[in-house]
Amino acid sequence: MSNNSVPESLRINPKRLKSDFEALAKIGSTGDGGVHRPALSPAHLAARDWLRERIAAAGLEWRQDGAGNLSAFLPCGPENGKTLLLGSHLDSVPYGGRFDGALGVLAALETLRVVQEAGPSLPFNLEAIDFTDEEGTLVGLLGSRTLAGKLDPGELQNPRGGRQALLEGLERAGLTEAGLLQARRNPETLAGYLELHIEQGPRLAQAGAEIGIVSAITGIVSYRLAFIGRADHAGTTPMADRLDAAQGASAFTLAARRSVMHDFPGCVANVGDMQFSPGAFNIVPARVDLSLEFRAPKVETLERLEISLLSQAQEIALENRLELGVEALGRHAPAPMSTGAQKAIAQACDRLGLKSMTLHSGAGHDAQSLADLYPAGMIFIPSTGGASHSPREFSAWHDCLNGANTLLQATLLMEG
Ligand SMILES: [Zn+2]
Repeated sequence: MSNNSVPESLRINPKRLKSDFEALAKIGSTGDGGVHRPALSPAHLAARDWLRERIAAAGLEWRQDGAGNLSAFLPCGPENGKTLLLGSHLDSVPYGGRFDGALGVLAALETLRVVQEAGPSLPFNLEAIDFTDEEGTLVGLLGSRTLAGKLDPGELQNPRGGRQALLEGLERAGLTEAGLLQARRNPETLAGYLELHIEQGPRLAQAGAEIGIVSAITGIVSYRLAFIGRADHAGTTPMADRLDAAQGASAFTLAARRSVMHDFPGCVANVGDMQFSPGAFNIVPARVDLSLEFRAPKVETLERLEISLLSQAQEIALENRLELGVEALGRHAPAPMSTGAQKAIAQACDRLGLKSMTLHSGAGHDAQSLADLYPAGMIFIPSTGGASHSPREFSAWHDCLNGANTLLQATLLMEG
């Protein structure tokens, strides 16, 4: 191809992508359509060995940084120019699906191969990257946060997967804690980040859309709330005299759902755990500790939701003559995707004749680590039945192809 022709007609090679997809799905296969490839487990490292071979077989240069992030590099832009990252992750949740992450990494590699073969010169170089531990088996968004320079070294002392599991994983992969902290990349060298991913929800299918253009990755806030009353004999204490912590926790759980459904469209709240103390058939519960997590796509909405839920908890505690304990546990701000990337994805859909819709991601992704540093964008394809993090996770092959072609075309449309 000559450099001045518009590469609108470029398409990914469907056979090559499919054969890669099927080969990768066998690594860590659970035999029921799913895969078990937790970050830095033997199966995950085997998948990385396989990817390294595929990169080399394509005649591309492979690179690995101190966080284990594995990349293919294609110098298709100006020498010493910026690099556009395309990627996702090869790790899975325990007993997860074969599409989550894997499709995005393979579509990124395929995009590099097509550009390499066709030879257009782009305003940037291309890198297909497989980020370490997107799923948070060990730390959570480990690879993308180290690349962004956002990993707090203190977190490695008490990571969510446990310190021992982290150290074992690093050792298995030939990585070190010191190396992790050195994997930061200067944002000035990067032109942006694009990722293809399955939606992991039902909204695209419900709307009859073929491609989702992600407007933002949801913000997530978590709290532990304690409703505190008084233990009493469950047989002899009259109902009206009880300070029953279970009543407060239950009323709050129902109120949170009602409030989100009525007043906060597009948001979600979850009471995922409750612990009763003392916890017996014949004792009025003195205390209930519950875990509350809620998500919203915009900072302003997230703040309103937070105020609303906490004030409802307070009111319900008062009504039930209980005390309320409030402990803030975690906070991830919503990450808006860049308007430039959204525009490139929308134009790619136009070129391909695909019906798109704009939506926010209710799940976390590596793009949220990078979005405040350079333009980041995400492309979703429909998930059958909305299932994910399960062997039932499935996307039709034509949707996978549509997504990969959208990634390719959006890459060609991104501004340098
Ligand atoms: Zn994923």
